[in-house]
Amino acid sequence: MQGSMMMRPLKIADILSYAAEIHSQGEVVSVRTEGDIHRQTYAQTAKRVAQLAHGLTAQGMQLGDRVATLAWNGYRHLELYYAISGAGGVCHTINPRLSAEQMTYIVNHAHDTMLFVDLTFVPIVDALRAQWPAGLKVVVMTDSAHMPEGDYLCYEELLEGQPDHFDWPDLPEETAAGLCYTSGTTGNPKGTLYTHRSTVLHAMMVGLSLPAALQPGKRILPVVPLFHVNAWGLPYAAPLTGASLIFPGGALDGPSLFKLMDDEKVYSAWGVPTVWLGLQGEIANQGRMPEGLGDMVVGGSAAPASMIQYFEEGGVNVCHAWGMTEMSPIGTQGNLPEHLDSKPMAERIAIKSKQGRRVFGVDLKIVDEDGKRLPHDGAAAGELYVRGNAITSGYFENEDANQTAFDAEGWFGTGDVATIDSNGYLTITDRAKDLIKSGGEWISSLDLENTVMSHPKVANCAVIAVAHPKWDERPLLVVVPSPEGKPEPDELMGLLLEHFAKWQLPDDVVFVDELPLTATGKVSKLTLRKQFADHKLP
Ligand code: ADP
Repeated sequence: MQGSMMMRPLKIADILSYAAEIHSQGEVVSVRTEGDIHRQTYAQTAKRVAQLAHGLTAQGMQLGDRVATLAWNGYRHLELYYAISGAGGVCHTINPRLSAEQMTYIVNHAHDTMLFVDLTFVPIVDALRAQWPAGLKVVVMTDSAHMPEGDYLCYEELLEGQPDHFDWPDLPEETAAGLCYTSGTTGNPKGTLYTHRSTVLHAMMVGLSLPAALQPGKRILPVVPLFHVNAWGLPYAAPLTGASLIFPGGALDGPSLFKLMDDEKVYSAWGVPTVWLGLQGEIANQGRMPEGLGDMVVGGSAAPASMIQYFEEGGVNVCHAWGMTEMSPIGTQGNLPEHLDSKPMAERIAIKSKQGRRVFGVDLKIVDEDGKRLPHDGAAAGELYVRGNAITSGYFENEDANQTAFDAEGWFGTGDVATIDSNGYLTITDRAKDLIKSGGEWISSLDLENTVMSHPKVANCAVIAVAHPKWDERPLLVVVPSPEGKPEPDELMGLLLEHFAKWQLPDDVVFVDELPLTATGKVSKLTLRKQFADHKLP
């Protein structure tokens, strides 16, 4: 028997309409590419979004058209998120740090019809436009006073004179709303095509799971870019719950972030570990935490225990989260329930170093090489598979990738190797391709890195596999020394010996000035493996 409740489609436009009415004074604060700080409320944002939707329609945007963005975190980018999807288009966020070749691949693969670009990235468009679809309209996200020369439309002119109300269509909730390509460390980038339904459900999942930050009056800084998996859902979850958004534009270095956090009294800041390493440097310079900072979400790659401890001791609640582009992205989050939060610091840090527990709407399983389920006992490690309401059911127009992405039960393979303990805490031991196979035994690079990071003379580090004639692969430790000086390799080995068996220790240590990063700000182990492919182990 069917129930008899209304079947209203979940739609993204409803989030902003709700925010404009219920959280009308929630703010969107942006460091602009024009150089100043810009402020508007959610009520004002909703009006501009309506004007933009009219502008897009006037430019000929049709249902299902892919409209791309190449932009920093700012209010105009947020407006595009809502106007494009609300009026029936697909907001395709492009990561400007991708290589020219990858960017060209995805603009063509997505068949983008329009591209909105921040002033900073106009040179990229100039350089690559000839290889992009003919007829692609390019709109520069600025006002007429700042427009560059060339064949461009002006963002503010698109809005000018348009009505500030739009009748948002009731699209079926499975309608495509957003498109984001993974950075494609191997092969071409693959696109995840979000729906209105998955996006709204994910926003609710994020709001439910991280209630301390997501509430009226709280100010959140997404350092994680709008071009990297929807800034972890914040552009939707923040308006939905009434939290304000503080957008940093392109200034993502430690001193700029510290100043913005201080000036804007940011309560919660979200980003990848490399960003927080930069901020730690500035906190050390200033001798204090940014004023008002009480909460932090770290994810995208493993947060070292030393970093979690640093911020926790400074009075900041650190939530270690895990997810993927294909999962919208949040899969797990690490805020502790009361009975664990009251434990001594060392115990809390140990639990917080795990990747947290699943959020509602995400199922997790770990399997062995034959696909057989492994127990959730905190010891058995296997490949992690996921299923849920905001998880991809197939890459966008990519049959090859889709043939191997799912198991026979339809679960999506994450490519991560993990354990899950009896309380549901997930621990990522490695990306499958980053594990080191030594003499038939696996060595987790993440575990080794976590320990090395606790040494005061280590600013950053990575452990990679180097080919070995006898053992197949052996670990090599690559270290960026901290300003306090270079640690002796023996000190590092001594530290590791406290936690690991001798055969698990790196065979050699090399020192570098910095580690290569991927387009999403994570340490690029692929680049490191190439760089040290011929390294002679002692
Ligand atoms: P990209 O590969 O483009 O950076 P994603 O952001 O989707 O794309 O990367 C997802 C991957 O990042 C996960 O499969 C996992 O390997 C890694 N990851 C994300 N969060 C964490 C975390 N907290 N700890 C360890 N690894 C993480």
